Amino acid sequence: MAWGKIKISKQDRLFSKYIRERDNWTCQACNKTFERNTGLLDNSHFMGRRFYATRFDEDNCEALCKSCHLKIGEDPVKHCERIKKKLGTRRFNKLRFKAKNNLLKANQFENEEAYQEIKLKYKKLLESKNYG
Ligand SMILES: [Zn+2]
Repeated sequence: MAWGKIKISKQDRLFSKYIRERDNWTCQACNKTFERNTGLLDNSHFMGRRFYATRFDEDNCEALCKSCHLKIGEDPVKHCERIKKKLGTRRFNKLRFKAKNNLLKANQFENEEAYQEIKLKYKKLLESKNYG
């Protein structure tokens, strides 16, 4: 995976925190649960980060442990099938279409307004769990 080529922004970091909290610090592939705010879970993007239209799309992201995240590369077909099952065929196809037919500019998805929106969602999520 070409991690090195894509710059991770503050919006990426915040969205990653949000996704891991949403998924209750549980790996969505092996169901193992981790302590909050540890670095042992990743925010995995189904369609890679370079597809801006789905970079901050909740359907495109899930918490995966380091081990399962690595396994994706070893068996992408299995990963694909699991995501398809999870989202349902319609949502799955919609997600891929959205990623690949993005004619908008990156700043359409990454800007101060989008950042504040994620921040608010994250705050509400924490409050709903009494972490606020
Ligand atoms: Zn796992």
